[in-house]
Parts: sequence; C-alpha cells; structure tokens
Amino acid sequence: AGGPASVTASGETVCPFCSVGCRVTLHLAGDQVVVWAEGADGPANHGRLCVKGRFGFPYLRHPDRLTTPLVRRADAPKDAGLSLRGADVLALFRPAGWDEALDMAARGFARARQAHGPQALAVLGSAKGSNEDAYLLQRLAREGFSTPHVDHCTRLCASVPPLAEATGFSAVTAPIEEIAAADVVLMVGSNPDSNHPVAASFMKNAFRRGVKLILVDPGMQALSRFATHHLRTAPGTDVALLSAMTRLVIAEGRHDQAFVADRLEGFEALKARVAPYTLDVAERLTGVPAAEIAAAARLFAGAGAAMTFWGMGASQHAFGADNIRAVIALALACGQVGRPGAGLHPLRGQNNVQGSCDAGLLPAYLPGYRPLAAPGHTVVEMFDAARMGEVRALYVVGGNPAMANPDLAATRAGLARLEHLVVQDIFPTETAAFADVILPAAALAERAGTVTNTDRLVQRIAPAVPPPGEARADWRIIRDLGVRLGLPWAELTVERLFDEMAREVPALAGFDWPLMERAGHARYPLRPAPEGDSLFADGFARGPRAAVVPLDATGADEAPDPAFPFILMTGRLREHWHTGSMTRRSPVLEALSPEPRAHMHPDDMARLGIAARGTVEVRTRRGTVRLAAWPDAALRPGVVWMAMSFFEAAANELTVNRLDPTTRVPEFKCCAAAVSLA
Ligand code: SF4
Repeated sequence: AGGPASVTASGETVCPFCSVGCRVTLHLAGDQVVVWAEGADGPANHGRLCVKGRFGFPYLRHPDRLTTPLVRRADAPKDAGLSLRGADVLALFRPAGWDEALDMAARGFARARQAHGPQALAVLGSAKGSNEDAYLLQRLAREGFSTPHVDHCTRLCASVPPLAEATGFSAVTAPIEEIAAADVVLMVGSNPDSNHPVAASFMKNAFRRGVKLILVDPGMQALSRFATHHLRTAPGTDVALLSAMTRLVIAEGRHDQAFVADRLEGFEALKARVAPYTLDVAERLTGVPAAEIAAAARLFAGAGAAMTFWGMGASQHAFGADNIRAVIALALACGQVGRPGAGLHPLRGQNNVQGSCDAGLLPAYLPGYRPLAAPGHTVVEMFDAARMGEVRALYVVGGNPAMANPDLAATRAGLARLEHLVVQDIFPTETAAFADVILPAAALAERAGTVTNTDRLVQRIAPAVPPPGEARADWRIIRDLGVRLGLPWAELTVERLFDEMAREVPALAGFDWPLMERAGHARYPLRPAPEGDSLFADGFARGPRAAVVPLDATGADEAPDPAFPFILMTGRLREHWHTGSMTRRSPVLEALSPEPRAHMHPDDMARLGIAARGTVEVRTRRGTVRLAAWPDAALRPGVVWMAMSFFEAAANELTVNRLDPTTRVPEFKCCAAAVSLA
C-alpha cells in the first residue's frame, strides 16, 4: 500500500463500492498510482472507511483498464464470448479511434431500429455511475432510440417499490444516522457489516450505547452478537414470521392506535390477513421458537422510536415485494415512522442506487418517478427478449449482466443472439466479450458530477485522478452517441445535466449546480434544520395516510427435493463488490478473499464426507460449478452459500430466472441445489 512519504498529490472522491457514500482521499505517487487511501470527513462517514474503501482503489491503474475504443475483429465469432474471461476478451477486438467506434456504435443502433423498429433496441445502465450519466442515458433510450426498454442493475436489489406503495416516496424516510435517536432497530434480511460496513460501524456504536436490535436473518452474522433477538428464520419464511409478529401486536392491543386511526389505510384487511399466523403456525413455518417471536414483537411494539431496515435478503426473492410489505406493515401498525429515530430504510446496494432511480433509468418511470402507461423490459426480461429475437441491439453502460443476472446460461444465450451490442465499461468484462464495440469509460474517481447515497444525500465529486489513455466520462460518451443519432446535445455539460435533472425530479426542488459547488453535498428534500431528517411527521407523499398491503405467505419457488436437497443462497462478501471486476483487481482484497467458496454447515460436510477446502461440485437445474467447500457454522444446516463475485465459479450459473411479480427482482436467495465431492 505505500505510505505518506511517497505521496506527491492527493484528491478526494466518493467511494464507488456501496451506497453508504463515504468520502475518501486518494493519495497518489508521481505516476498517479493510488498508494494510499484514507477516509475524508464526509457527511456519511466522518473519516471512516471499510476495507474496500481503504484497499479497493488499485483498479484505477490496473493494466487491464480499457484505454482505447475497441471494435470486434471481423473473424471473431459472435459466440466466442461464451467461453472467454477477463483480459482474454481483448483478443477478439482491435483498437479503434473514438470517431470510428462511435460511428459504428450509432450505425448499429440506427440499422436495428430501421430494420426491426424501436422496440428492438434496449439500454442497460448501472447504479455505479453518476446522476448525470443515468439521467442522460435514459434520455438517449427514450429520445435517441425511442425505446421503452431501459433499466439498470438496481432491479437486482429493488427494495424500494413496496416503500413507494406504502408512503408515495421512493427513498428512505429516515437516514441511517437516525439510529442514534432510536430505542430499537428491526433489521430484516440485511448484513450491513459485509455490505454497508461503515454504516454498520455507526450501528454498532448505537448498539453498544444500548439501542436494542431485533435481527431477522437465517444465518449468524457480525451483528448477531448485538442482537437482543436474532430470529433465524428458515429461508423464504419472512412473511410468516412478520405476519405473526403483527398479529400478536394487534391481538394484544400493542399497536399504535392513534396512528392506525388517523394515518393508515388498509389496517382492517391487514388484521384479517395476518389472523391465521398464530405463534404456533409461525414457529412451524419459520423454525423460530414461538416465545422468541412474541418477545421480539413486544419489544418492537413497545419502543418509543424504532428504525426499520431491510436489505437484499428480504428483496431478492420471487416473493420479495411481499417480504418487504410485511416488514412495512409491522412498522406502520406500530406507528414507527415520522419521528426522530423512527423510520423505514431499505439498505440499498450501489453507490448511486438512489440517484439512478431518481434520474428515471427505469422502464416504468420517467425522472422523478412519473409513471409510464406502458413500461419497457426490466433487466432480466431484456435478455429473455434477446433470446427470443425481439431485442436485437443493446447498449450496456457499466453493467455486467454476464455475471450479475440469474441463470447465466440464459443471459449469455441472449447476448450471443444480439445483432449489435455496445459495451461501455472500465474493464473488459464477461459481458464485453459479446460486444461489437467496446467504449472505454472513466472511473468515478476520474470524473466530475454528483452521486446520491442510500440516505438521499447528494454529493458532488470532482476528478481525483485523470482517466487512463483515451477513457472518457460516461455522460460524455452517451452525449456523443446521441449527437450521432441526431440529438441536439453537442453543448451539454455536467452542470447543465444536473440542473436539468433537478428540475425534473420534484424531490430535488431547490437543488442546482451552484448549490452543489457551494455546499459540496445536501440531503433532499431540502428542509430547514429544525425539521430533522426523519420524514412524514404529518401526512405522507401519497396523501394523509400511509397504506399497508395485505398479503399471504408464499413459499420458495423451488423447494429442495431428494435430487437437489440443499437450499442455495447467494450474496456478497465484505472484501468484494458485486461481479468483482474492480475489487478482484486489488492485491489486498484478493489476498483477503482469493477464491470462490461454497460455505456449508460443518454437520452437512461431515455427513457428505467433505473435508474443509475439498473441491465440491454444486449443481442446480441451471448449471454446475466447482469450488472449495468452506465450513461455516453461521449457516443453517441444509444451506449452501456462495458469493456472486467470482467468475471462476459464478454463483449465477446456478440461480433461477424467476421474477417477483411486483418488482421484477429475480430470485437470488433460494433455489434447490445438490452438493457432492468433485
Ligand atoms: Fe466504500 Fe461502502 Fe466501505 Fe464506505 S462502507 S468505504 S462507501 S464500501
């Protein structure tokens, strides 16, 4: 890592690795290599960084960085990407100038639109970029391509739609730091110590000061030791557990009767719907002792102020929206919103996950969540449509669906069938292997703009390091492509794009570039200081009352059976981020977490005669991968857990392409698997 002695320059940016939005100072050596990163005094981190923020930046100057536009060699077969990984991808391409590559990219889209109509075009963005990238990309899709098919990877962790349904607001009602004013925290399906580590560090401070934690999560995790109640549900049974808690709270008259009377819709229907979930029923379905469920429900209902968090463990199911509706219903029945220390908070994934949704990079919404009557395809649906020959041309900006989507064989088949694929990224990803044109992008630390974290905090960024070679900011590449498609965009700048987006997004009222330059950051909605950051003291964005949506528990789509007796769960590690294209190029992070592992309970390993680190084959109905078995007593027996970040044994070869009917989020947390010695 080097140290202060070798530092010749420093620059500040926002960490790109999760939605906490930590500010980080990058210290550079003379050749602009990052030799040292330290936490800056940002509003979200106050000097703290996690292991990714501290050691994750070597990717900026990694030799695999794309530094020049590339076009596919005439003799490279279209499906060659099916077997290629990483830098091997480059053998399929030849370098090109920007004009040649952009002309080819634009011509391919124009040709596909002319031959097959605008519905044959699709755009897949990313929550890794800036607000300005996301805003302009959705404009390109809608104005340049005239297609409704525009989405981004937030779809893979969509934890917000049920919140919007309940409150009319598509962001957290209270930021993480409100935990300091809470008595109790309810956390469902989230492992912030791995996925939002700096946020978890503030949570741990609060728990040490006496804030009580109710944790709903099948496995043990770093926050388990702080939990007053850790309800270790059987995978896929959250609705039953939360419904039983809600039923008990109502039956014992512990709900917030004034809140329910004055500020809630749907309570009577909710009461009827949770009625069957007695403690006995819940214990049978979830495996959690009835007494523990009751004690947790009473603790939550008795809190003066409670923060409610949920994460991917709740949302990434084919019934994820119902899981979240059940969380929200419990919180609202107890009136736990709209006061200091009380609020609803989906812990979201990527650095600009909030901003890219606000910007309208979504198939069902224009900027500011203005709904569309005829939504386009979501992430997974785009590839289904490509496989069927309906989508013919695709522009991928910063996404890596060939690693991130469920059922990778199906995604790759869709990629291979495309007539025209343009991939814009900082590395030759698994997706780029299928491209006709690859456009080299600048990384977040190399550019100007704004990003919006999970707490509705909009932060300005400026380049901390220059981009390598000919790499350019995404918004600039999108603009130049738009100009080639006839759009009058030649004069667009980052400043103009932010101002335009702020005008289009009601929640950003009062925001403009001068404010960002002056203040560096601001939380939306802009409010006078005494009002605090917990929204909805009176009324909600949807009207005077919030809504609870009654629901029934639905079981896992693919339950274990004799042929596939395990439940496969996928997730993330503290050391690696998503598909690993950046963090796996960090020597420190790679040393800490160097290989794909199949985490299993030691009892299961003993039963199957599997030694620690022995090679196993994990099979599902979609595919097979080989990797090291890793004893993990934190798991429930019968579960095998894999991280999504390792291309050598990609977890998504195994996952199931089944979507939640409301959010279209795929099922990443529960499918039937077999494990055997390789
Ligand atoms: Fe980066 Fe998130 Fe870690 Fe902060 S908590 S340093 S934003 S990965």
